[in-house]
Amino acid sequence: MRIDELLKGAIQRLYSISETAQLDAQLLLAHVLAVSTSYFYTWPEKEVSAADISRFNGLLERRESGEPVAYLLGQQSFWSLNLEVAPCTLIPRADTERLVEVALSVLDIGDVNRILDLGTGTGAIALSLASERPRSTVVGVDLVEESVALAKRNAIRNQLSNATFIQSSWFEALEGNLFDLIVSNPPYIDPDDEHLSQGDVRFEPKSALVADNHGMADIEYIIQVAPRFMKQGAYLMFEHGYDQAIAVQTCFVEAGFIAVESFQDLGGNDRVTIGRLK
Ligand code: GLN
Repeated sequence: MRIDELLKGAIQRLYSISETAQLDAQLLLAHVLAVSTSYFYTWPEKEVSAADISRFNGLLERRESGEPVAYLLGQQSFWSLNLEVAPCTLIPRADTERLVEVALSVLDIGDVNRILDLGTGTGAIALSLASERPRSTVVGVDLVEESVALAKRNAIRNQLSNATFIQSSWFEALEGNLFDLIVSNPPYIDPDDEHLSQGDVRFEPKSALVADNHGMADIEYIIQVAPRFMKQGAYLMFEHGYDQAIAVQTCFVEAGFIAVESFQDLGGNDRVTIGRLK
């Protein structure tokens, strides 16, 4: 079968389950053929082998059952990096790049800072900051051993030697360390949120998504404990839910933080809130 015919059929199959059927089909076929998607525009009439068609069909079936494209490809772009992804942790999202931008805005490029990323997952945030601030050192922690191993592989994959990763339940393994900046994209979804049963998130681990107390439990805990691990004047910042900015700000202020401020994501929702230790 020709490439263009194969793609046409695949897009039709994916229409009902994906808003990005064409892109999904192209990415999956490019993965199978080990080419870039521009190849399809150059060689639409190329014949695809029976073995490749069968591998492609296998991926299409999994996509039809809802599996996220990033898990099927095993990789995802984030910031300037290409990251390995796995079902043990969240797929990095564009919204989280906003957190990286805000973090960079408080870090002078020449300064030697110590940065902590809590709940690092793939290492997306930690590695982005490490790549943009090469004189600084970044520690990423995660509760899940498998995610720590994944983040370490992503550091090697992107040739970043100023980021290290350790297994830790939040601050547990960090006693005695002081940081200039702590960042986190913690679980923040309300356990009853209906969007947990829709789309890609169905396949992501609940431990990375859901927190008690309307999604606020982990953010509240981190704000309480963080000052013990922060230098004077250090910053703490979170990604959080679109409707949580006021709650997060209140938490910061009650814990004595100053210069508390929220920033919007690409969709115009409050998504990142920052506070500074006096
Ligand atoms: N932003 C993600 C979502 O809404 C959730 C990420 C998180 O809980 N940290 O799917």
